[in-house]
Amino acid sequence: MFSVLDMFKIGVGPSSSHTVGPMVAAHAFVSSMRDSDLIDRTARVKVTLYGSLSLTGLGHGTDRAVMAGLEGNVPATVDTQHMLRIRETCALDDTLNLAGVRRIGFDYDRDMVFDRWRRMAAHPNGMRFQAFDDDGNLVDEQVWYSIGGGFIRRGAPDDLMIGIHDKPPEGTSFADRDEGSSTDFGPDAPYPFSSGSELVALCREHHLSIAELVWANETATRSAVQVRADIDTVWRVMRECVDHGCTSAEQSLPGGLDVPRRAPRMYERLASNSDVLKRGRSRRDAVLESSDAAWVNLFALAVSEENAGGGRIVTAPTNGSAGIIPAVLHYYWHFMDDANEEGVVTFLLTAGAIGYLFKRNASISGAEVGCQGEVGSACSMAAAGLAAVLGGTPEQVENAAEIGIEHNLGLTCDPVGGLVQIPCIERNAMAANTAINAVRMAMLGDGSHIVTLDQAIETMRETGEDMMAKYKETSKGGLAVNVVEC
Ligand code: SF4
Repeated sequence: MFSVLDMFKIGVGPSSSHTVGPMVAAHAFVSSMRDSDLIDRTARVKVTLYGSLSLTGLGHGTDRAVMAGLEGNVPATVDTQHMLRIRETCALDDTLNLAGVRRIGFDYDRDMVFDRWRRMAAHPNGMRFQAFDDDGNLVDEQVWYSIGGGFIRRGAPDDLMIGIHDKPPEGTSFADRDEGSSTDFGPDAPYPFSSGSELVALCREHHLSIAELVWANETATRSAVQVRADIDTVWRVMRECVDHGCTSAEQSLPGGLDVPRRAPRMYERLASNSDVLKRGRSRRDAVLESSDAAWVNLFALAVSEENAGGGRIVTAPTNGSAGIIPAVLHYYWHFMDDANEEGVVTFLLTAGAIGYLFKRNASISGAEVGCQGEVGSACSMAAAGLAAVLGGTPEQVENAAEIGIEHNLGLTCDPVGGLVQIPCIERNAMAANTAINAVRMAMLGDGSHIVTLDQAIETMRETGEDMMAKYKETSKGGLAVNVVEC
């Protein structure tokens, strides 16, 4: 059963689809082997990464994430420092601690395969796990997909494989989804919905806000105490992430591009000059430093730099776009006089509901639909959350969410060097401010508008389908080829 809080998973940087998902998949593989008593028979494990995972996996740390998952780690609790060193640690004696209980041979060059010429037809982020015994006999083989936002789906060893640039034959892709009413929430949820229009209609019919409706669904199967605790954890990790990003002592980000960490210096400057006009400073300084937008930029950069550095992160709804919702939520927290914890709950439940619509009816995976699915979805979610805490009606919230995605349609994914740094980090800051601007427009209207959120989401799905493969997290187009790596 789906929870809208699944849109906010505690994970590690730098990528939800290329780091978090693969670690979860590797963990699922060893868990199923353990359940089938296959761990003791295993002498070696081989992992093959396909499609986008093979093309940008090194920059995204997919190999390290998979190794950590094979050792039995999960994203919410893995030691991020251990993850950064795991490849070197295993190389010391060419072994890996399978499921944390059995040391097996693991020769990185032989057992971690990046197949850059093929992809699985079902999804661009496919991976194959194979376990062998001492004699080289196959003990187990599983295919898994990382389908965006840290979500995974199990496939079959004989799933169709195609060339890296081939279009999947009709009916073979996960993107070919069924239409119809949602049962994703389970039979006990009082208000299941599968579209924005259904969501707003339910709110109207039952005189509920979007957050109240989602709360009723969430607490139908789990205790209110548990749901509240989960939301509080998400908010705590978001706050810690902003704090770490603002105070990091690291000068630059890993990966070889030598991208500087900007948030710490920006924080120092903004914090010391927060009242620039009153102290008689120039208008130029006022433009640069005194506006709320400068702080929103800072919050987004802080989180995105933590993500790029492999730190603890909340996927929201992905890692690449993880700076947008915390930035807008911190804007609410620090700039609204009446901000409180209840408002944070309202914000996250509302944003989660909108994120669910993107995940269900289009995609939140850059490898599937480009950056519009990551940054566009996050912008829309953040706009909805802010409109909700400002007292927006369900129609105004839907309007804000629609504006948030409409102006991100067509956004491609072209990370330089396969790293979640350029253009990703600044893009989070831009989208956070776009979300706030979307709220300004929506809240000054009455909620009526021409393009619906459902139409914008469907447009995003179709645009993603038509987008050339090189603009979908392959680092084979756009900035990734026009910016020369030193
Ligand atoms: S360009 Fe967008 S979709 Fe691609 S890795 Fe960066 S944030 Fe994610």
